[in-house]
Amino acid sequence: MDDNTFFRRTVLIVDDEPINREILGTIIGGDYEILHAGDGAEAMRMIGDYGMTLSLILLDLFMPVMDGYEVLQKLSEDETLKRIPVIVLTSEKSAEVKSLGLGAVDFIPKPYDMPEIIRARVQRTIQLAEDSALIKSMENDDLTGLYTGRFFFEYANRIEQYDAGRDMDAIAVNISNFHLINDLHGRDTGDEMLRSLADNLMTELGSRMGVVCRENSDNFYLYVQHLDNHTDFIDRIVTRMRRTEGISNLHIRMGVYPNVDHDVPMETRFVRARHACDAIRGDLSQSVAVYDEEMQRNEIFTQRLLQDFEEALSQQQFVVHYQPKYNIAGNKPLLVGAEALVRWNHPEFGMLSPKDFLALLEAYCLISKLDRYVWNDVAQHIGQWKDGGAMAVPVSVNISRIDLLDHGLKNTLLTILQDHGITAQDCVLEITESAYADDAVRIVETVADLRSEGFRVEMDDFGIGYSSLSMLADMPLDAIKLDTQLIRNITKSDKSRQILKLVVGTAKMLSLPLIAEGVEEREQYDMLKSCDCEIIQGFYLARPMPAEEFGKLLQKEE
Ligand code: C2E
Ligand code: MG
Ligand code: MG
Repeated sequence: MDDNTFFRRTVLIVDDEPINREILGTIIGGDYEILHAGDGAEAMRMIGDYGMTLSLILLDLFMPVMDGYEVLQKLSEDETLKRIPVIVLTSEKSAEVKSLGLGAVDFIPKPYDMPEIIRARVQRTIQLAEDSALIKSMENDDLTGLYTGRFFFEYANRIEQYDAGRDMDAIAVNISNFHLINDLHGRDTGDEMLRSLADNLMTELGSRMGVVCRENSDNFYLYVQHLDNHTDFIDRIVTRMRRTEGISNLHIRMGVYPNVDHDVPMETRFVRARHACDAIRGDLSQSVAVYDEEMQRNEIFTQRLLQDFEEALSQQQFVVHYQPKYNIAGNKPLLVGAEALVRWNHPEFGMLSPKDFLALLEAYCLISKLDRYVWNDVAQHIGQWKDGGAMAVPVSVNISRIDLLDHGLKNTLLTILQDHGITAQDCVLEITESAYADDAVRIVETVADLRSEGFRVEMDDFGIGYSSLSMLADMPLDAIKLDTQLIRNITKSDKSRQILKLVVGTAKMLSLPLIAEGVEEREQYDMLKSCDCEIIQGFYLARPMPAEEFGKLLQKEE
């Protein structure tokens, strides 16, 4: 038996001959708790009472009142009780086949003249039953009954072994905005959706060669014989589920890596399917995305960047550019600050912008390393400019979400300042609005702590949707930066103009300066000026520039 389980198992011996029960009980009794029943009817009552706490039933076939066959029959009809293993006790060879057919797992011949063999059979039968119950519980996801991810890959690989060369598709399926279903309709409805999707995937799979699993939360994987029409496949499921679950705007998306390359490892096939599925996240007009050459190029590109990252850091391939911020309240724009923006000067791919690599570094938890590098670089530049006697304006750096969860953040920043002989007043920290939405309490605490050291903190990317205006009152902040996207639209859409007015009003009420980012045109500039939005950052006045150039600008402004 499993060495980690010390309890004594219980075995029920069913035989109408007391002497037979006695002998068997003596043979195995040293190792197990023994219960006795004198006929099938009594046995069924006891099985009803003890249920799954019984590890094994030893069952005589010929008994008065209810015989052993009938007991086997009754057990086989009960979904739970049929999992208790039964060994049949018999002296008749012919009875063995029939009882095995009724679900008995083994038999012990009478008379009982080989005690060691009996003990061994009993022990092995219990062990097998417990092992298979354990495997079953790990194999299947409790909620949907589908395979779990781990076993899914095992079975997918088996298909590969037994039927090599067959055209197969790797498919990832995901319910769009599943968290909203949970939030709006409750977790029970969410669970019901997952079960329903599982059932529907199985139905659509039908008799096709394939295997399905719930990989995690609302991510499902299918490894299936090539499908001709993926859109029809998912549309049929969505149509049925909209009807049965009563959620009319349900959207399910599917990423397909079709006709898999059999040289690609199984896990990678599903990374590709998932990749395709992610590519249409947020686009409710599409339900199917197929892994294509562009995605493959992208995959190779990102792999390359990950590989090159450490070397890039040590070879100083990351360069910081500075984009000026101007106060436009007076007649002439006045240089009042700058934002440090990183670029990757890659030896092969050229100058890469943050959108090419930031999300990737975030996903692989490398972003903090880069941020530290940037902060150091910025501190060094500020130190040089100040030493050179140039005008000093505060420079803002971007703080990633992950940095904010690091308890050592404040000390890291303070050490960097000290190393370069500058102060917290020389730096501004930009924290993206969505970080506040993630874990407001914790972020507010961290920010308050940083401000107590003299750092100024600006909320970046404001106005595209996460926090409410009322939340602003509770935030420890020194300025709000209006997002590029919002500014782009203020001359085009009424809604954006309304939002701008609302934010300007709120900022005034809270005495918080507003910074408009991404100002590209005269019209935007004028509109912002007329709204009393005083600080502007954007291509209209200046693009991000190398440190040297910004240093010259500072000299000139003096
Ligand atoms: P952000 O902090 O909101 O930075 C502003 C972005 O808007 C910059 O893009 C800037 O070049 C761009 N921008 C400024 N004015 C204009 C304009 O008039 N028109 C247009 N179309 N764009 C304008 P960039 O440099 O590509 O940076 C993108 C984002 O990458 C930044 O958004 C920031 O979130 C992140 N980022 C940049 N550098 C760093 C860094 O060192 N660390 C971290 N963690 N994030 C960084
Ligand atoms: Mg920023
Ligand atoms: Mg911004």
